[in-house]
Amino acid sequence: MFPIASNEDPGNGIALNLSSITKSFGEVPVLRGVDLELKSGERVALMGPSGSGKSTLLNCICGIEPVDSGEVRMAGRLLGDLKVGDLERLRRESIGYVFQSFHLLPTLTAFENVEFPAQLIGMAKEERIEKVKRLIESVGLTDRSTHLPDALSGGERQRVALARALIHRPALLLADEPTGSLDTENGNQVLKLLKTLSIEHGVALLLVTHDHASTDICDRVISMRDGSLIS
Ligand code: ADP
Ligand code: MG
Repeated sequence: MFPIASNEDPGNGIALNLSSITKSFGEVPVLRGVDLELKSGERVALMGPSGSGKSTLLNCICGIEPVDSGEVRMAGRLLGDLKVGDLERLRRESIGYVFQSFHLLPTLTAFENVEFPAQLIGMAKEERIEKVKRLIESVGLTDRSTHLPDALSGGERQRVALARALIHRPALLLADEPTGSLDTENGNQVLKLLKTLSIEHGVALLLVTHDHASTDICDRVISMRDGSLIS
């Protein structure tokens, strides 16, 4: 075991460092040597055509997909050096993930969805409830907190997902086309929240997007073509 202090910046100002990441599915190369550094609290938009490897890159960063070669360094740790249990813990404690299709648990209320990851990492009940309340309030859903996902609009669901992704105070937030299934108004509301919450929580953001409006909330934009990054 090692101390993973999610938001206490054990990476010395660097939230994420990727060095020469490669990944193939079968014979098909999908990532062809990706280098990228995100400073703590930095917001970076990742653009690029469908199929260029953006989602695969996010999955490699959080360890859902193993890389073929290269190094992923987070919170000052090389993912490749970690035992399975420690990798799982690092993912759980220092990464937040927001998906295009929300991925909320359908049988849990908005409140319970946000609370769930905090339970997983063993946050004490009083602290948990206080934090969930505050986050639900900051995404503007206090009066919706007892609703099930089915009873919420797309924009509301994504705001629940955003609160859930931040409850454990991660150092890095990965967002894969988070506005992709929302209309412009709801999409813009989610983007605004992504910006204000990333600042408030000091979390670095890697935002995969097709939408040029998303780049306005970021410090810089990078593009992916055929598995390589171009600035
Ligand atoms: P993007 O998110 O940029 O649209 P993806 O990372 O989803 O691109 O996909 C990149 C390429 O990898 C695509 O050709 C896709 O078909 C392929 N791919 C993604 N995931 C898998 C997988 N689990 N097995 C096989 N091929 C995959
Ligand atoms: Mg994708």
